[in-house]
Amino acid sequence: MLPIQDLYPLLNTPRKVVITMHQKPDADAMGSALGLYHFLTQLGHQATVVSPTNWAKWLNWMPGCNKVVDFELTREKAEGILREAEWVFCLDFNILLRTKHMAPIIKALDVTRILIDHHAQPDTPTFAYGISDTSKSSTSEMIYDFIVEAGYKHLVNKETAQCLYAGVMTDTGSFRFPAASAAVHRMIADFKDQGLDHTKVHEHIYDNFLENKLRFIGHVLLHRMEIYYEFNTALIAIPKKDLLRFEIKTGDTEGLVNYPLSIQGIRLAAIVIDRDEERKWSFRSKGDFDVNTFARKYFEGGGHFNAAGGRSSASLEDTVDYFMQCIQENASSLQEEHKSSN
Ligand code: 5GP
Ligand code: MN
Repeated sequence: MLPIQDLYPLLNTPRKVVITMHQKPDADAMGSALGLYHFLTQLGHQATVVSPTNWAKWLNWMPGCNKVVDFELTREKAEGILREAEWVFCLDFNILLRTKHMAPIIKALDVTRILIDHHAQPDTPTFAYGISDTSKSSTSEMIYDFIVEAGYKHLVNKETAQCLYAGVMTDTGSFRFPAASAAVHRMIADFKDQGLDHTKVHEHIYDNFLENKLRFIGHVLLHRMEIYYEFNTALIAIPKKDLLRFEIKTGDTEGLVNYPLSIQGIRLAAIVIDRDEERKWSFRSKGDFDVNTFARKYFEGGGHFNAAGGRSSASLEDTVDYFMQCIQENASSLQEEHKSSN
């Protein structure tokens, strides 16, 4: 993989470009893709954002979201666009498998694949150009850096700012995680100069729930959360019947895994959701418990040091039993004094 800087001189020749991201895109995946889309379009490229799957409805406010092609929903159209592409930008994931059914197609295409991502251990041989930086708050921040370093800061407009702000805001837990660096805050200042209304973005994302979602959160916290103080761990296991009862849609369970981390002493929070095709895990940690390694080792997954995900094809009950064995195996590091605390 050549450094992303090598791509900068090639940016002023218009091309057919596809921008894609991980399946079930979150605000950073969708925001970074649309931020890049607005930039490339201004440069005269013919860019299309192709999402591997559907996405949460509450992302639809993002400028340009109505033009995003859903690969699963309109596969023929998406494949046609992919076949024509000269460049494919791959955002907010480290291995092609994260694009689900698109992965073999992207792999087989005779195109220039470009990676911009902040997850650990990227599969670099797959990409012609790229940048992977785990110290970055979000892929959205990396898109901003890409635009600025390539010499096009003047093309960061209000639309781009709205999309990128949503990504960095959600990936930093509204600017509370350590990755919300001085550079991130300088970027936000630039967005404000472009006319960004950050309050609107917060409202679009955090004040846009349907009643059933709030009731669902209440139900889950009361009936589905177990706390294992001996391991400083919290586990939420959601059976399929809950998803049906509360009419839970894509994206409605996002963020649930963070609630138990607000309990004193909890260092590891895990959630498992009984989806049709698999049991989907999310992990969050505080301090020095590495959930990227944990998810890779036990749950065919990965992600970041303090936020990762994985999967299991076992039943909900069996995968929960397995999780209990896993935390017992990791008991000593989970019980360890928080090194960074004082
Ligand atoms: P979430 O729990 O919000 O779905 O994901 C947390 C982080 O881990 C995100 O950065 C996400 O991209 C990554 N992640 C989630 N699930 C998986 C997975 O199955 N495999 C890998 N490699 N990363 C994942
Ligand atoms: Mn991200």
